[in-house]
Amino acid sequence: MSGLVVIDAKVAGRCEATVAAVQDWPCRAGCADCCRSLAHLPALTAAEWGRLEAAVPVSQQGTVRQRIREQLARSQGPYTCPWLDPERDHCLVYEARPVACRTYGFYVERDKGLYCSRIERRAAAGELDQVVWGNQVVVDEELDAMGPRIPLAERVR
Ligand code: SF4
Ligand code: SF4
Repeated sequence: MSGLVVIDAKVAGRCEATVAAVQDWPCRAGCADCCRSLAHLPALTAAEWGRLEAAVPVSQQGTVRQRIREQLARSQGPYTCPWLDPERDHCLVYEARPVACRTYGFYVERDKGLYCSRIERRAAAGELDQVVWGNQVVVDEELDAMGPRIPLAERVR
C-alpha cells in the first residue's frame, strides 16, 4: 500500500472511533463551515495533488479552475475551498480529499486548539471528554516523509 493509503486508513480508523463514541458528532454531510474558512490555501504532497486533481468531475473542471483563480487573487484568508460545491455544501472530491480535510475536527496539535468552533464549544461544555483526539503532529510527520508540500499556486496551469 502507498504511504497515502496507509495514512488515510489510520486517520479513518481514528475518526470512526470518535464518531462511534460521541452521539451526534457534528462533522457530517452538509456541514462545510470549515471548507469556507480556510486559514491558508492548500499546500499538499504530490500524491495528494495527483489523486485530488484526477477526481475533479470533468463537468466541473472549468468552474474549479475559475474558483482557484479567484482564491489565489485574494491577499489573505479566510479562503473558500475551490473544490466545494457552494450550492450543496458538498465536496466535489470527497473520496480524494487531502489528509488535512480528513483529520480536521478529529485531530489536535498541542497549543493549537480544536480549530472548529462547533467542536470547541462542545469540548468546553465537557461533552467530548471521552474523545481520544488524533495527534496532528504525527500525521504531518508522515506526510513530510512523502516529500515536499506543493502550494496551490504551483498547480495552476
Ligand atoms: S470540523 Fe466543524 S465545520 Fe467542519 S465538518 Fe466538522 S463540525 Fe462542521
Ligand atoms: S477538499 Fe473538500 S473537504 Fe477539503 S476543504 Fe475542500 S471542500 Fe472541504
